Amino acid sequence: MKPIKRFALVLGDQLDLHGAALRNFDFKTDMVVMIESIPEAQYVCSHKAKIALFLSAMRHFAQNLTELSYPLAYIKGSPLSIVETLKEKMIQEGVTELICIEPGEWRLKQQIGELARELSLRIEMREDDHFYCSYQEFAEWAADKKELRLEYFYRLMRKRHNILVDSQGNPEGGQWNFDQDNRKPYPKKGPGIIEAPVLFEPDLITKEALEFVNATYPNHPGSLDHFQWAVTRTQALEALDYFVEYRLRNFGMFQDAMWTDTPFGWHSILSSSLNLKLLNPREVIHAVLQAQKKYSLDLSTVEGFIRQILGWREFVRGMYYLDMPKMAQDNYYKHQRALPQWYWSGQTHMACMKDAIGQTLQYGYAHHIQRLMVTGNFALLAEIVPSEVCDWYLAIYVDAIEWVELPNTAGMALFANGGRFTSKPYIASGAYIKRMSNYCDSCQYKPDVRFGEKACPITTLYWNFLIKQRNQFESSPRTKLMTANLKRISVEDQKSISEHAEHLLTHLNEL
Ligand code: FAD
Ligand code: SF4
Repeated sequence: MKPIKRFALVLGDQLDLHGAALRNFDFKTDMVVMIESIPEAQYVCSHKAKIALFLSAMRHFAQNLTELSYPLAYIKGSPLSIVETLKEKMIQEGVTELICIEPGEWRLKQQIGELARELSLRIEMREDDHFYCSYQEFAEWAADKKELRLEYFYRLMRKRHNILVDSQGNPEGGQWNFDQDNRKPYPKKGPGIIEAPVLFEPDLITKEALEFVNATYPNHPGSLDHFQWAVTRTQALEALDYFVEYRLRNFGMFQDAMWTDTPFGWHSILSSSLNLKLLNPREVIHAVLQAQKKYSLDLSTVEGFIRQILGWREFVRGMYYLDMPKMAQDNYYKHQRALPQWYWSGQTHMACMKDAIGQTLQYGYAHHIQRLMVTGNFALLAEIVPSEVCDWYLAIYVDAIEWVELPNTAGMALFANGGRFTSKPYIASGAYIKRMSNYCDSCQYKPDVRFGEKACPITTLYWNFLIKQRNQFESSPRTKLMTANLKRISVEDQKSISEHAEHLLTHLNEL
């Protein structure tokens, strides 16, 4: 047997047999390296289901590699970080050449670069072809823009990739965006019967991963009782087929709707498969376009879904690389309060927060509006320090990888970068949550009461936020309208709101 000359590193979120790491693989002199690092799940205290998903998907992928006769070093349960483990392995085997795909996470990319310098490695860091837009393309697009806005980037992506455009490059249906049609609440009586998403019973490999997680991370948050995530490409493809066949038709209209005991709504539940690279966004968009033809689906639904993948997903990734490491440190409003303890337990009296956090602890999943307008909205209004909020999101969702989590949390939900890519903070009072859900029906608070015992904390903190930021909001045309309603609240009531808010802010753990 010839000695190994080169390692091909495959990270836990790069699980594609046709991915760039395995391109031109030399079976005689190359070896695939995969590393399970225990501290990797501890630098934020990850949800048990998130750890189990990564481990199970990695182990299934390793099994595929072995079946295909790839030489493989699969390192289980390393007490070191990924890069320290890799370093040890390279020194041990005397290997000085490394192929890898650019890690999604900025920190890991820096660390691999440092390792390459330290060991004088010959390194080939290949582009991740699981995205439509490379970092370089995004940086070129951003370079001459005064304002970095999703809408213009998305239009460019539509034209460049010929998706929902006519031969002249105009949008199908005459408009680029059907967002206004995609914001409906469920009917008053509730969502009715929703086709449940396809779920996968744990096989032997998954069961072993679940046991390992329970034994190794006993004090981590979240439950493993409902673990039914796709852990292989075959399963991810099945989930995609099922979604386009049965659930896509109602995705658009009810995209923002929330309802108790309805954790998944009509959403696709594909983010973890996309982020682990079990699916390629191109095949997801292809499947959606095929379903549009087959079932004559509404353009608003199809456009609404494609905007998430071709628009937001690509856009936030570009922004992440453009703005790191600053993005992780920004704190525009200089908020310094600690994250309430109940974010980790769901034990709060606020029905909306209890439901969104409760399902998150159960499944490691909440949909976009729950993340943005419930848990995110509260964190901004409650003046929580962005780094603690971002750590929570990174820990608690099965699809959380920093390149997609951080821009959504710091940039979109918390406005921590002062509106680098959003025109104004996403804030709302209890009235919005009442309109979009049934949460308020079972809550001890009243969404339209602004102060006093019955007041909805979200409503009180919303008006308090506007009172505090009034001067600044009024100085900008983008936010001027947000404070208009303040004029309808008497000076005495504004004082009562501020006093009640101060009490809430100093007793956040008791809410
Ligand atoms: P669907 O609603 O069915 O949407 C389809 C797909 O579009 C998703 O699978 C996802 O790949 C993509 N998508 C939708 N919205 C976004 C978005 N804003 N940014 C990037 N991609 C998007 N998404 C993650 O994948 N990982 C995260 O860690 C993450 N953290 C978030 C944190 C906050 C505060 C917010 C507001 C959003 C976050 N999102 C994150 C985006 C979005 O909430 C999830 O992608 C979505 O809820 C996943 O569920 P789904 O697959 O059912 O998505
Ligand atoms: Fe949430 Fe306020 Fe409604 Fe209660 S009343 S569910 S806290 S929005």
